[in-house]
Amino acid sequence: MTETELIKWINLLIKNNNIKAFYNSALWEHTRQEVLSEQHYECQICKDKGVYTPAVTVHHIKFLRQHPELALTKSNLMAVCEECHFNIHHKQIPKEQLNEERW
Ligand SMILES: [Zn+2]
Ligand SMILES: [Zn+2]
Repeated sequence: MTETELIKWINLLIKNNNIKAFYNSALWEHTRQEVLSEQHYECQICKDKGVYTPAVTVHHIKFLRQHPELALTKSNLMAVCEECHFNIHHKQIPKEQLNEERW
């Protein structure tokens, strides 16, 4: 898949509200594993606070929905633990405004 095709595909998934298909793709799984490995399976946010926490997920620093072109760009990807990831997406957002758009 070329970069243009990738962006087109992600835009289509966003439009169809099916971004899960991206996260389920082999392409993402491969990139995710590489990032986790390169960042030593360590949560980068906890690390900044001097705490070691195993990372379980990879976060798009610039959100995927707003920047599909950075979907697989390593400099836009960060290994994080579940709690930090939740906080990134949900902190200070009133509950009633929570919806899938935030991801
Ligand atoms: Zn963390
Ligand atoms: Zn995220």
